Amino acid sequence: MKICKSISELIKLRRSGGLGDIGFVPTMGALHSGHGSLIQRSVEENDSTVLSIYVNPTQFDNADDLANYPDKNQADHTLAESLGVDIVLMPTYEQLYPDLYRYFVDEKEFSHVLCGAHREGHFTGVLTVVMKLLNIVRPARAYFGDKDQQQLKLIEGMVAAFFLDSQVIGCATVREQDGLALSSRNLNLTAEQRRQAPNFYKALMTSLDDDEVAAILSQEGFKVDYIQTINSRRYGAAFLGPVRLIDNVELNAGLNVGLNNDVQRKVAQ
Ligand code: AMP
Repeated sequence: MKICKSISELIKLRRSGGLGDIGFVPTMGALHSGHGSLIQRSVEENDSTVLSIYVNPTQFDNADDLANYPDKNQADHTLAESLGVDIVLMPTYEQLYPDLYRYFVDEKEFSHVLCGAHREGHFTGVLTVVMKLLNIVRPARAYFGDKDQQQLKLIEGMVAAFFLDSQVIGCATVREQDGLALSSRNLNLTAEQRRQAPNFYKALMTSLDDDEVAAILSQEGFKVDYIQTINSRRYGAAFLGPVRLIDNVELNAGLNVGLNNDVQRKVAQ
């Protein structure tokens, strides 16, 4: 596995033609099995896999969140290599933003609701860095998690709008046994917060309405950013201490059975 700290080196490798069809998995590192599932799929479906690890400052609206973002480079490289990644791209800000973020990709509608309404400039940062990375790597296929559904949909839209020559592939959310969606930020939960965190997913899964779900979570000590259902998909974001959890679930009869009862019983108490 090659660690590529220079964008020009990666472009040279790609142009040499030896990489064949490239699968690309962009991440911010502190890799877990959610990232692992994207990597595995890319390794299966492509001649070579490029993983990027870059904590993109332009998508952070909160300086503390950026400063506390977990950094696990050595473990990340070991996991990536064991899963069959060919190249890890680790660019610097100076390389990725030679324009000092004078140019950016903006979207006028879906990026301004849900997380976009609560994190100023977040999706402009995300879309801009993904556009840059897709232009550098030129993958046949790029893999993104359904856990960040709003991000996935916006990237699909951008790729179509700008005729980018990559296929965007959405991958199912990987969860802990108790339902909590895997996330690098979970590393920053205290033991007590980690115990409480799955209630976020469980509350999203209930057949209660959005306001009731928000009320339950507030009662349980979550600081709710939003709970909102759009086209039968319930999206939510809430803080436990300084850690912001996000998740989304498809609200259909099959999913709501069972897990609901827990929370609904609590409401009834
Ligand atoms: P991040 O490092 O958080 O920017 O995530 C990199 C990619 O991994 C994004 O496409 C995420 O949606 C995806 N991802 C993160 N967590 C999960 C998860 N629990 N299951 C599936 N994909 C995930």
